[in-house]
Amino acid sequence: MPPSVEVLDGHEAIVGRITVRRVLPRRKLRTVGAWCFADHMGPVEVTETSGLDVGPHPHTGLQTVTWLVDGAVLHRDSLGSEQLIRPGQLNLMTAGRGVVHAEEATGTYRGTLQGIQLWVAQPESDRFGDPDFKHIAKLPEVEFGQAVATVLAGNFLEVQSPAPFGKDLIGLDVILHRGTTTFPLDPSYEYAVVAMDGALEVGESTSKPGQIASLGVGRDEVAISAAETTRMILLGGVPFPEPVFMWWNFVGRNADEIGTFYRDWRDKAARFGEVNSALARIPAPPPPWEPIRTTTAH
Ligand code: MN
Repeated sequence: MPPSVEVLDGHEAIVGRITVRRVLPRRKLRTVGAWCFADHMGPVEVTETSGLDVGPHPHTGLQTVTWLVDGAVLHRDSLGSEQLIRPGQLNLMTAGRGVVHAEEATGTYRGTLQGIQLWVAQPESDRFGDPDFKHIAKLPEVEFGQAVATVLAGNFLEVQSPAPFGKDLIGLDVILHRGTTTFPLDPSYEYAVVAMDGALEVGESTSKPGQIASLGVGRDEVAISAAETTRMILLGGVPFPEPVFMWWNFVGRNADEIGTFYRDWRDKAARFGEVNSALARIPAPPPPWEPIRTTTAH
């Protein structure tokens, strides 16, 4: 018997100027393989001068994955990258020991913005490595059942994503047409499904946008049904074997380490570079476990 599907509610958050539905992490689901964060952004109307508009902010120990369904975003980072991203393309930024980026309005695009931003926790072997940025302009598609999958990460039905992720990870964007499609799965992976624009029947459970359906490990397939054409994201991977301590935009292993990242950002340490952006640098809130710095007037 495969494990039962557990549907968990996400919560709304404000990122930059838009509302997102954060579906990972959840209290009962910290990671899915190495996937440790998922924000469904929009749909929201944007203008030439107002968009996602997330000012310069740091990351550590993770890869950020930006995937748009609609719209455009301008990415800038401390490596000097300046890259417009459009639907069908993937931005993959590797933070390693530290990187800074901003996500801005494009100066030309107006219309609907929608997408998903995902984070992948880096393993011990890579997490203090060099930062990196890759833009992948085209990703492979594979048709199966009533579905067309774009392979964002890993390998699915012998089709390999060109994006440089670690091993033991899969990420698919799937257009599911009306009917039931059986997805072949790897029993050594755990999986989760995020509905992007309509309700899905995932196994015996119903899952809607704003929720995440956790499939657990030990399945060799799952049947997913849609009443009409619906987009979904499938995330999966071998359960991440290391403890993940996430706070604000940092992924580490414990509070001490995160405290160091916090102070390095606050103090503009060399770990984090500069981004050429008109948007304001985003300060980190003090971690609740940091001693309060008081200044005394003399
Ligand atoms: Mn970011």
